[in-house]
Amino acid sequence: MKLKIAHLYPDLLNLYGDIGNITTVTKRCEWRGIGIETDSIYGSEKIHFTDYDLVFLGGGSDREQLLVRDKLMSMKDELTSYVNDGGVLLAVCGGYQLLGNYYKLKDETIEGLKILDIRTEIGDSRLIGDVVIENEQFGTIVGFENHGGRTFIGDHTPLGRVLHGYGNNGKDGAEGVVYKNVIATYLHGSLLPKNPVLCDHIIKLMLEQRGFPTELAPLDDTAELDAHRYIVDRFTKK
Ligand code: GLN
Repeated sequence: MKLKIAHLYPDLLNLYGDIGNITTVTKRCEWRGIGIETDSIYGSEKIHFTDYDLVFLGGGSDREQLLVRDKLMSMKDELTSYVNDGGVLLAVCGGYQLLGNYYKLKDETIEGLKILDIRTEIGDSRLIGDVVIENEQFGTIVGFENHGGRTFIGDHTPLGRVLHGYGNNGKDGAEGVVYKNVIATYLHGSLLPKNPVLCDHIIKLMLEQRGFPTELAPLDDTAELDAHRYIVDRFTKK
């Protein structure tokens, strides 16, 4: 049994420890004897997405998002088919915005992949800080956000409701999007080390898509859950 991750543009989209998400998925697989490897994708080479069990898009500055957009556009159809076929995709912040219809900056608009029917517009200030959200299935999810863009998700289902922080736009209390097997979120941190339940959910989806058994051996998550709880207690308990 072997799983494969495609990490898209780690040189341009990798803010606030986003690479820790790859490390966490990899380690939590390896600790259970599940083989896993990552291909880092840098160019606009043709990618066979069917070879992959997880595609990861991290966050980036507006400038880096502008640099990456043409490369991303060249794989629009293949990535859309991957998602429509149930492929697992994790996108953080800048990567999340690029999955939508567009990201409107002050002087120009970055066209998105239109995989999610969402739009993002830059605001007058940056939304920065620790975040705690509540998801019905996973409970609390913690992370760190730093974005100028405000995202409006229309009819999409959010990843969670904001308990502390700003989330998608600082106004409607929604954070992120869950769509098919796509999880898109503003949460850096990185996201998965302090949210082992969410990480294991992603691993299960990866296994399920390949038709492998999805039963996961328990791990000792004491340190991870302590770190998680510290953030929840600090920001949501009076
Ligand atoms: N450049 C985008 C914004 O500022 C995304 C930032 C990020 O990925 N942290 O909204």
